[in-house]
Amino acid sequence: MSGAALPGRLVLLGHPVAHSLSPVFQQAALDAVGIPLRYESLDVAPAELGSVLESLRQAGAAGNVTVPHKEAVAERCARSATAELTGAVNAFRVSPAGVLEGENTDVLGFVRAVEALLPSPRPLRALRMIVLGAGGAASAVCAAARTWPGSQVVLVARTRERAERLAARWAAEVRVAASVPEAIAMLEGRPSLVVNATPVGLSGDAMPVDPRDLPAGCAVLDLTYRRGATPLVDAALRAGLPTSDGRRMLVEQGAAAFEFWLGVPAPRAVMWEALERL
Ligand code: NAP
Repeated sequence: MSGAALPGRLVLLGHPVAHSLSPVFQQAALDAVGIPLRYESLDVAPAELGSVLESLRQAGAAGNVTVPHKEAVAERCARSATAELTGAVNAFRVSPAGVLEGENTDVLGFVRAVEALLPSPRPLRALRMIVLGAGGAASAVCAAARTWPGSQVVLVARTRERAERLAARWAAEVRVAASVPEAIAMLEGRPSLVVNATPVGLSGDAMPVDPRDLPAGCAVLDLTYRRGATPLVDAALRAGLPTSDGRRMLVEQGAAAFEFWLGVPAPRAVMWEALERL
């Protein structure tokens, strides 16, 4: 650890939080680096968020934010450029002057997950993406797409107005379709990547799209994850498409948050091993 002061506490804010895997791999990372902090899960009802954040600010705490608080915390923080772009914060810290600072490491986590999934050449550019869902994760995907020049994004969501509100933030770069076939037809060129940014597949056998309906070579990135393969990843493998689940993004967003809080490199291999032991 460098000479920088440690946060007073390290917490995960969500509602609920019990399902989150972040405590497992963040605690393993803290222990591996020898940082004497306990990563605490705090289940915070929306009505309590303001007072909890103020007491965390006074304690010089740092931490993660998950559903449903990412947008509300963004409103109460000094936002990084990425947090400003997405309107969502998933990592926060308190500056030496006592200011709550918000970051969005989901964007970098998603970029790293796509880089791991898609073949070279680098840098990536002109991706033709179909995004299923229009919530916080979809917003991070839209922000990431900006880092790949010439990319197109088409959103497909069950609540079309939510997708249109999200697309409106990104002007002409992001469009909305009513279905996956319509999205395929709207793209200029064959889709290179389909992203599941809905919770479909967290449990049960449902899939947000049937990979057999996608063209050859289209990669499938499922942002959800669970013990074993998700139904979507399983079906994409059977269809012969490149695919992976949300664990790479989970570890990469967590590693970026660890570095944002503590200023030391995150032990990514330790984080992976902790997840794989589950
Ligand atoms: P969110 O803000 O609640 O948005 C969820 C989106 O999925 C909304 O568009 C919602 O539509 C849609 N949806 C929900 N249930 C659906 C269903 N049964 N069928 C079709 N659409 C449905 O959630 P989020 O934060 O974006 O998270 C979405 C998923 O990504 C979650 O599974 C989350 O765990 C995962 N995620 C993973 C990572 C990672 O690091 N791997 C990071 C962030 C999120 P409505 O507006 O109609 O409700």
